Amino acid sequence: MEISSLNSKLPNTGTSIFAVMSGLAIEHNAINLSQGFPDFPISEELIDIVNYYMKEGYNQYAPMPGVISLRKAISEMFEQNHNSYYNPDTEITIAAGATQALFTAISAFINKGDEAIILEPAYDSYAPAVELNGGRVKRSKLLFPEYKINREEIAALVTGKTRLLIINSPHNPTGSLLQKEDMEFIQKLCKGTDIIVISDEVYEHLIFEKHQHESACRFSELKKRSIVIGSFGKTFHATGWKTGFALAPEYLMKEFRKVHQFTVFASNTPIQYAISDYIKKPENYNYLGDFFQKKRDIFVNALAGSKFKPLTCLGTYFQLLDYSRISDEKELDFAKRLTIEHGIASVPVSPFYKYGEENQSLRFCFAKEESTLLKAAEILCKI
Ligand code: PMP
Ligand code: GLN
Repeated sequence: MEISSLNSKLPNTGTSIFAVMSGLAIEHNAINLSQGFPDFPISEELIDIVNYYMKEGYNQYAPMPGVISLRKAISEMFEQNHNSYYNPDTEITIAAGATQALFTAISAFINKGDEAIILEPAYDSYAPAVELNGGRVKRSKLLFPEYKINREEIAALVTGKTRLLIINSPHNPTGSLLQKEDMEFIQKLCKGTDIIVISDEVYEHLIFEKHQHESACRFSELKKRSIVIGSFGKTFHATGWKTGFALAPEYLMKEFRKVHQFTVFASNTPIQYAISDYIKKPENYNYLGDFFQKKRDIFVNALAGSKFKPLTCLGTYFQLLDYSRISDEKELDFAKRLTIEHGIASVPVSPFYKYGEENQSLRFCFAKEESTLLKAAEILCKI
C-alpha cells in the first residue's frame, strides 16, 4: 500500500523540459537540437589523460574541496582571463557539475523566508532549489527580444529579505550577455545590502564576435559578495562528466563547503586530475568562441530564406528562432509538433518562465556536427 500523504516539497514540479524534449526526440527518431549537449567527440588527448590517471590508481576519494592541482589551475585561468585571484586553498571548490554547485550555494545561504531574485527566462534549477530551502522566489523578466535586464524592475524587487540575486551570462536559453554596464548596475544595486550574488557562468568561454565575458570576479566590490559557478561539461564538450566548480571569497566559501561536504562530499577523482593537466594550456579552451560562432553561423546561414527568424545570439550554444510567420501555436505545442511531424527537436522557451510567457520562439542547440546542423536547417527551410 502507498503512503497516503507524502506532502510533496515540490508539488508543482514535473519532469524538466530538457528530459521531456530529449525523450520525445528519441521516441520519434528526430534530430535532437533540444537538450544542450554536443554530438561530436571530445578530445582524445583528454580521454588519454583520464585513462592514465585511472590506470595509475587515482580512483579513491578526492579531497572534499577538490584536487589541489585542479584548484590551482582554475585559479591561474581566472588570473589570466580576468586578472582576478582566487586562493586555491580557501576560495575554490570542485563540484559534481554546476547543478550541484548551484544547489549547494543556494542551500548554504537561503534560510526560511529569505527572498531570491531570478531573471526570467531562467535556468530550471534555480527556483526549486530556493523553494526546497524555504525561500521565496521573486522574478524579473529580461526584455524581449534582446533579453536585456530590466534595471528598474530588479531594483524594485529588492527588500530587506533579499538574500540572493542569481544571474546567468552567457545566458541560457537566450544567448544574451550581461554587459559591463549591467554588472556595474548590479554592483551598485547590492552596495550596502546583504545580498549574495550567484553568478552562473557555465558558458564563460562561449562568447562571440568582439564581446568579452563580464565575469562577476572582474568587479572588485561585486566579487566580494559573489559565488561564480563554472562547468567543465560545457568547456570540454563532456556534459556527462558532471564536473564543475564554485569560486567565492573565503567567508562565503566556508559556508558553501559546510553544505558541499554533505551533498556530494567530493567529486570524480581521475577526471579532476586530467582536467588540471588539460586546462593548463589556454589553447584547450581559447578556441571555443570561434568554434561555436562558426557553428552558429552555419546553422543561421543555412536558414536564410526560411520562415524561421533568428534572434540575436551573442554567446552559449543556443539559437532562438522566432516561428511567428509559420504558426500561432503555443511554444510547447509547436515544439512537440516539430519533433513528431518534422523530426526536429528543440526546446520551448516558455517553461523557463513560471507563468509560461509566450514569444513564439524555440531554442535550438547548435553544439552539433556541421552535417547535423545542415540536415536540420534543410528540414526547417521546408516548413
Ligand atoms: N547552468 C546553466 C545555465 C546551464 O545551462 C547548465 C547545463 N546546461 C547548468 C547550469 C548545469 O551544468 P552541469 O551540467 O555542469 O550541471
Ligand atoms: N543545461 C542543458 C540545457 O540547457 C540541459 C541540462 C539538463 O538536462 N538538466 O539544455
